[in-house]
Amino acid sequence: MSAANLGAMQHDWTMRITHVIDHAARESGTREIVTRWADGNETRTNWAGVRTDALKMAQALQALGIKKGERVASLAMNHSRHLVSWYGVAGMGGVLHTVNPRLFEDQLEYIVNHAEDKVMLYDAMFQPIIDKMRDRWTTVEHYICFDSGENSPAFEDWIGAQDGDFEWVTGEATDPCMICYTSGTTGNPKGVQYEHGSTLLHAVSGLQPSTFNFSAASVMLPVVPMFHAASWGLPYAGAMAGIKFVFSCSNEPAVLHELMDREGVTDSAGVPTVWLAHFQYCDAQGIDLPKLKAATIGGSACPRFMIERLMKNGTRVQHAWGMTETSPIGTVGGPTWDWDKLSFEEKVDKTAMQGRPIFGVELRTVDLDDWTKELPRDGKTSGALQIRGPWIIKRYFKAEEDCVDENGWFDTGDVGILHPDGTLQLTDRTKDVIKSGGEWISSVELENAAVGHAEVAEAAAVGMPHPKWDERPVLFVVRNEGSNVSADDINEHLKPLIAKWWMPDAIEFVDDIPHTATGKISKKDLRDRFKDYKLEG
Ligand code: AMP
Repeated sequence: MSAANLGAMQHDWTMRITHVIDHAARESGTREIVTRWADGNETRTNWAGVRTDALKMAQALQALGIKKGERVASLAMNHSRHLVSWYGVAGMGGVLHTVNPRLFEDQLEYIVNHAEDKVMLYDAMFQPIIDKMRDRWTTVEHYICFDSGENSPAFEDWIGAQDGDFEWVTGEATDPCMICYTSGTTGNPKGVQYEHGSTLLHAVSGLQPSTFNFSAASVMLPVVPMFHAASWGLPYAGAMAGIKFVFSCSNEPAVLHELMDREGVTDSAGVPTVWLAHFQYCDAQGIDLPKLKAATIGGSACPRFMIERLMKNGTRVQHAWGMTETSPIGTVGGPTWDWDKLSFEEKVDKTAMQGRPIFGVELRTVDLDDWTKELPRDGKTSGALQIRGPWIIKRYFKAEEDCVDENGWFDTGDVGILHPDGTLQLTDRTKDVIKSGGEWISSVELENAAVGHAEVAEAAAVGMPHPKWDERPVLFVVRNEGSNVSADDINEHLKPLIAKWWMPDAIEFVDDIPHTATGKISKKDLRDRFKDYKLEG
């Protein structure tokens, strides 16, 4: 029998991002994409409009002389023209470099030069950054402004000069389509390049009911920025499902609240601080939280009280864990098989963990003192968390060597516990976990317990050198405005929540806690600030 008689599938269909926007335009062409701009103006387009503009943009980039594989940078908030760029750049074979505007100047200089960005697309609100960095960015040849033509050509005019008669550039599933830099705690930021195929698979997996759970009726307002970790893949997964997107260039709670109400938003996604600000806003105004069906929360641990309040409001909390290196979704918390049998408290406890791996991702933990020893998934033993899968990094951009072991395991730098039902419970970062008398104390759990106190705005636990115990926890606390809460009050609050030997040796009140450009507590800066701190033996 010849091979032809055995039948075949259409595996010449290459996994390219262009399929995603073609599908969205064809099947959900009229589904709206709303943008509330920084100046308060609003515009509306739809998936068909995004595709037409992406085709024009691809032409416009070629007209500038941009070639397949070259990098095009964006310095922008969430809006429809940024979305167009995600598809326009990939559609002409380019690589979109989404730059985080909150990075420090040296980091901004480093990453744009390192990526050799040729074009810089930016929001007018970031003109001061452009003015400061222009002379330091040595490879950028063209500046285009997304929302004004005052200092650079305006995006709409630039793509408006094209007719959109363009064929997407074809290639391999392994071609790159996007690059994000991750600013680690040491050294220069590192580039993580996503590929067409890895991005497409990641987005498909994100559509599982236990993940984003989108339907055609979903209306998503993503607060997670398009410049951070591919906005958790939402612009792709949302296109696949044909959802309505509502984008806002402002993250003011009042603006988000009004948009959520008016546009019938069902889903949102963002870091916990977004909800903290929203709670404060609603409390100050004496109004209810928006009636969302689901909120995906990740990027840092979602505190228990936040989960509780959202769940009581009828909102399903999907606590997600991932990193720039993992595209970024590793795990997401959805209802487990035994969900209906759980009490409300048990549901909150489960949701406070980081969820289960989505299809395609494998996790394991290894012994912190012996990294060759794999640990049991017993819901008790914590260890260094490792991950592998088709959308997990293998090698950083321009790096000489792979960053995974010979079996593909990537070290996340996180510490966690795996439960028998596959749930991941993150307990710390390997660099932040506190070693006291040979035993590990989770700085994150200590912080979470502390922020549960009504008068604590923010808390950070750091292991300080101790003559007897090696390290002991010190808790740095920012009080709520106007609060005089004392160390004794906080200790009383902590006592029933944590083991006795986890109790901090000292509580220090500070005006602020340093943050990284992605809004996470910077323990490194905090340690630097208190480098002469001494605990008594
Ligand atoms: P980034 O690459 O900037 O997105 O940072 C990734 C890191 O953020 C992870 O390695 C974790 O340490 C932390 N992280 C992300 N999601 C969570 C979560 N749900 N709970 C606790 N930490 C998280």
